[in-house]
Amino acid sequence: MDENECVAYSNSSGSATVNSRTILFEDKSKSKMQTRVVYGALFVLIVAVLALVIALAVVATQNKDTTSGGADVDGGSSSSGQTGSEGTDLPVVDCSYAASNLDKAKCVLDSYPLVDGHNDLPYRYRRYSNTAVYTVDLTSDLRKTWNTNLSHTDIPRLRKGKLGAQFWACYVPCKSQYKDAVLLSLEQLDVIKKYVTRYPDTFQWVTTAQGILDAFKMGKIGSLVGLEGGHSIDSSFGSLRMFYDLGVRYMTVTHSCNTPWADNWRQDAPDYNETADEKPLGGLTDFGKQVILEMNRIGMLVDLAHVAKATMVSTLAIARAPVIYSHSSAFALCNHYRNVQDDVLKLTKTNGGLVMVNFYDKYVTCYPMNGTESTLAHVAAPYPYPETESMRCWEGQFSQGMYVLLNYESHHIDYIKNLIGVDHVGIGADYDDVSTYPALFAELVRRGWNEADLQKLAGRNLIRVLRQAEKVKAEMSHEAPHEDMLPFEVAAPEEVCHTRLDTW
Ligand SMILES: [Zn+2]
Repeated sequence: MDENECVAYSNSSGSATVNSRTILFEDKSKSKMQTRVVYGALFVLIVAVLALVIALAVVATQNKDTTSGGADVDGGSSSSGQTGSEGTDLPVVDCSYAASNLDKAKCVLDSYPLVDGHNDLPYRYRRYSNTAVYTVDLTSDLRKTWNTNLSHTDIPRLRKGKLGAQFWACYVPCKSQYKDAVLLSLEQLDVIKKYVTRYPDTFQWVTTAQGILDAFKMGKIGSLVGLEGGHSIDSSFGSLRMFYDLGVRYMTVTHSCNTPWADNWRQDAPDYNETADEKPLGGLTDFGKQVILEMNRIGMLVDLAHVAKATMVSTLAIARAPVIYSHSSAFALCNHYRNVQDDVLKLTKTNGGLVMVNFYDKYVTCYPMNGTESTLAHVAAPYPYPETESMRCWEGQFSQGMYVLLNYESHHIDYIKNLIGVDHVGIGADYDDVSTYPALFAELVRRGWNEADLQKLAGRNLIRVLRQAEKVKAEMSHEAPHEDMLPFEVAAPEEVCHTRLDTW
């Protein structure tokens, strides 16, 4: 192409041909240079634009990680620097317009789900209706239906209490250990699934942290399951994994009895009898440690309510995800060994875990262990304030007995908050009456709690912890399942109800 143009210029310009050709060559050479410069500049520009786009994408990703798992949105990164996995959350609200402490409490509970760690309604169905759900009207007052004050929960009271989500306890007694604990636990899980299904306008089945928020946004009570006691898996990793697959999202490592691989709290109690009671295992055995790591691997929260202090310490030394205490209080305020001691509370802060404070009178006021039933005087002693103002706050909400309990309760909550921080305290009531959560929160408002901290107590902390467990599950997904089995005589000392499969 260049060559033809030179010839044509020569034919038309005569003697000037050489110069013209020279000039032409110079012009073409100059033009080529200019073209190269333009292309070069374009190339540099494209590279620069690409680099800018990549840089912006990296920054955007980092921001997204921060906002989904960091302190601003997800309730604060834990003291160990752990952050939650991705997901949307709800903002802190301004409830300063509220006319009273109770109104402010309700405003907070309308803004963020209150996630309670423990409720025994499923076992009430077994005890009072032989696990039947469809013959019982949960929209009625179950205290009348079952003629007992032990019934703390029904739908009207759940709604009045503004509950956002509930871990329903899948509990079977220790006496079923080595016998039919797995079968009975499956039946309890079935009870929960039945009433969640029967009342779809009230309950929503939930198995993830995000699911709690999604249910709340739809006006439903997110329903999760906690398996209350390691005896329910019968020393079987297969059982543990299948319970997870059925929806269980925490397991209490022991109930008030040892498993073959973990000590329960009774080992620590003053009335422990070395010859008559179970022999201590020293916390977790090697198999027990594998159970904890398998729970981390599959994304099931490790619950340290009911376990011995040695089991708490053993677990906190190896756990890869934050632990919970689904329904425990502060030992320093009530020396009951179901409660959490100060040094363990500090270890829990390091772990990023969460103590969900229990409202059970024995653990809150130590009655009757200290030989003294709670009275208003006991409450007034640690927190003196004008009684008339307090009573006005509670008027019409509940009896004086409940008033006493709630005051003790918020005392425990404040204690844990002050010792290890507001990021590590939640609610796990075992409740006397689920309708009174707003009154409890009103008391905390009176004590100066702000909206952000109340939201953390209500549910943001639990959601952060569950998200972290989900993240650890993803990180451990390449690891193979644990497949060890205990020797038959250890796993099933009472052979009578177990089929021996290793002999045929
Ligand atoms: Zn319990």
